[in-house]
Amino acid sequence: MINVLFLAPPKNWVQYEAPLRAAFAKAGIHADLRVEFDPSDVDYVVYAPNGGQADFTPFTKLKAVLSLWAGVETMVDNPSLRVPLCRMVDHGLTESMVEWVTGQVLRYHLGMDQFVAAQDGVWRAGTAAPLARDRKVCVLGLGALGMACAKALSALNFDVHGWARSAKSCEGMTCHFGEDGLRGALSGADMVALLLPDTPATENVLNAERMALMAKGGFIVNPGRGPLIDDDALLAALDSGQLAHATLDVFRIEPLPEAHPFWVHPKVTVTPHIAAETKATTASEVIAQNVVLGEAGEPFLHVVDRAAGY
Ligand code: NAP
Repeated sequence: MINVLFLAPPKNWVQYEAPLRAAFAKAGIHADLRVEFDPSDVDYVVYAPNGGQADFTPFTKLKAVLSLWAGVETMVDNPSLRVPLCRMVDHGLTESMVEWVTGQVLRYHLGMDQFVAAQDGVWRAGTAAPLARDRKVCVLGLGALGMACAKALSALNFDVHGWARSAKSCEGMTCHFGEDGLRGALSGADMVALLLPDTPATENVLNAERMALMAKGGFIVNPGRGPLIDDDALLAALDSGQLAHATLDVFRIEPLPEAHPFWVHPKVTVTPHIAAETKATTASEVIAQNVVLGEAGEPFLHVVDRAAGY
């Protein structure tokens, strides 16, 4: 019997208990899945950190911690975690993110906000949007989520430029990496979508200097993490007209404080960290797959590089 502790808020247990039991059964895993155990009996922890940072020291036979979240910035520096930490890569989550990012990019591309705001009985002369191929869209981060979004935008014919830490190549887009690569990715970009993890190396990656590289009147879409953007520089760029609008799903402090200027800024759309969420059914299959690999002595999937922070 494999002992699996579910260490996440009670609302997650309600969502996950049945899908996890079904996924374990389907994968042929005989697991005792519970929300309470003597720590020294636990083989795997299924974990979400919003129940608080855990002390894994008493978990003496633990084989892996399987995160329900894709972003692991609150887990990577837990000194008591000495076994592999696997982040969530879930195709349900990826599909949601692709829908959200392409939806925001198309909204900006088609100029939908101006029509929503001008539904007042006045027929104004206007021009249709250019073709997507004439818009440069930059995707910062080409991991599980960023690459899927970049591919979807490329399939819509946008001129997609992606940026990652390591060199990549993908048909239908231009891939950049490193400091020089960031300049090339951002230069003249009409829209930038951020899908980087929150690490010391990515903090304020989109600062005043880099926003100035974008095409005047550009747009920002941030479903990554709040610290990726210098907030004051963003407000200044919106006020000066260098940027036309930003849709922000994630913030340095969540929930976004009521008095924060983003709430009332006419060029900011705030969404409450809903761009994409892990789907219990598909995520449970990923967790079961990792338990199968662990029991077979095979390498786990989606292991976090603790030194890199993601
Ligand atoms: P991932 O697979 O780990 O990909 C991260 C990407 O960022 C990789 O391409 C990586 O480059 C790149 N990167 C990391 N550090 C970098 C640096 N210093 N310079 C340049 N590129 C760097 O992560 P993911 O699954 O795509 O998720 C991305 C983020 O989305 C998560 O960390 C989380 O914060 C956020 N997220 C948000 C929501 C939401 O609802 N808003 C939901 C899920 C996730 P390499 O490819 O070279 O390693």
